[in-house]
Amino acid sequence: MNIKEKDKKYIANTYARFDLCLKSGKGSLVYDENGKEYIDLGTGIAVNSFGVADGEWIEAVTAQLNTLQHSSNLYYSEPCALLAETLCSRTGMSKVFFSNSGAEANECAIKAARKYAADKKGKDYYTIITLKNSFHGRTITTLAATGQDVFHNDFTPLTEGFVYAEANNLEDVKRLAEENKCAAVMMEVVQGEGGVIALDRDFVVGVAKLAEEKDLVLICDEVQIGNGRSGMLYGYMNYGIKPDLVSTAKGLGNGLPLGATLFSEKLSGVLGAGMHGSTFGGNPVACAGALNVISRIDDKLLAEVREKSKYIFDTLSCAKGVKSVSGMGLMIGVETERDASEVIAECMERGVLPIKAKTKVRLLPALNIPMEQLKKAIEILMEVCAK
Ligand SMILES: *Cc1c(COP(=O)(O)O)cnc(C)c1O
Repeated sequence: MNIKEKDKKYIANTYARFDLCLKSGKGSLVYDENGKEYIDLGTGIAVNSFGVADGEWIEAVTAQLNTLQHSSNLYYSEPCALLAETLCSRTGMSKVFFSNSGAEANECAIKAARKYAADKKGKDYYTIITLKNSFHGRTITTLAATGQDVFHNDFTPLTEGFVYAEANNLEDVKRLAEENKCAAVMMEVVQGEGGVIALDRDFVVGVAKLAEEKDLVLICDEVQIGNGRSGMLYGYMNYGIKPDLVSTAKGLGNGLPLGATLFSEKLSGVLGAGMHGSTFGGNPVACAGALNVISRIDDKLLAEVREKSKYIFDTLSCAKGVKSVSGMGLMIGVETERDASEVIAECMERGVLPIKAKTKVRLLPALNIPMEQLKKAIEILMEVCAK
């Protein structure tokens, strides 16, 4: 049996994979088992921030790997403390809890928000407002937080205490805040899985103001848009708001599993010893790599991200066969006249790897993709769209 046959036989049926087995890569170029080259516009779903086999990141990771690969949260660990310090100093947040994935980062945020509200308003104030079309993860609680019925079917009863507001409809959020005993409001400032949709500025600012007035914990899910992808270090920074909790993962680890939940000063004392934990969370190898990633997402790199974003928006907005371009930074959704799956399949054949979001073609290139590779990939995408 070859790899694809073994996978089909032994891996659980949860993934509808593309007919492609990637073997290796360097930067934004990846290679399949036959040595065919592709320009990567998916980065393992916004994970490989600096592409594949990035030299500096490998150095940081292997140095730690050769020193101590894991010690548990029973003891202090240098990479974990240094990464937390860096994240706090770069965001103005006060504390960090480390986990291993986006779903776990959100679970921690949800627990912290419930605890804060229980302490402050009473135990029945546990409801969290999330947005329709959102995506917050696959655990039973983060599925409940996800405002899309397609993910809920067959897995009920889900964790109770989530209500869904229409995105970009502040009145709807206000109504739900009146009708329920609420702990928090949670949103992705750019909805990723929902179709790469950046929320309106007025809406986001309005929600933040409402949260402050009603003492609702404001949670920003930055799992996909975070860590430089928006053109700022975190997506919420584009809106000038200050969340109480920020969850992130994906691009933070550059390929090693790492999730983080950031606490503002107001929430910094809400979880005490024994209230939450993770065996692997804050793993020194993942943290040493992430420390390298975050330290390289500086003003210069962020300016490059915004410049490449502008190039993609400008080029695709007027391209034949393209209906619309949405998103922010290097997290872009392209609505095509042709079926998105067909466009992706043909791009793949021609050596370019975008992915899908709902009915759109989604582009999530590495933050440091060389301009000439990006241009070549976008030209091929345009040719395919125009057919
Ligand atoms: C991917 C994603 C998650 C879930 O992350 P996992 O690491 O797969 O658990 C949560 N929220 C958003 C916005 C995401 O894009």
